Amino acid sequence: MSNVTNLKQFKKQQLKKKNKAKTFCKSGFHQWKITNPNQFDVKKGKLVTNFQCTICGKTKVTLQ
Ligand SMILES: [Zn+2]
Repeated sequence: MSNVTNLKQFKKQQLKKKNKAKTFCKSGFHQWKITNPNQFDVKKGKLVTNFQCTICGKTKVTLQ
């Protein structure tokens, strides 16, 4: 029975973590992860790096 309680608590904690992370995203504090470094953008004629937020999945591109 204690396992069930632990699982419930675990899920609650995970949810809390997720909500907190989403609040950060809403405030513009994304956790950027490089998904595609030093790609050559033909349109811009420059090297670009693609980023993706590990929390909300938002993407951004920065020029090198
Ligand atoms: Zn985000």
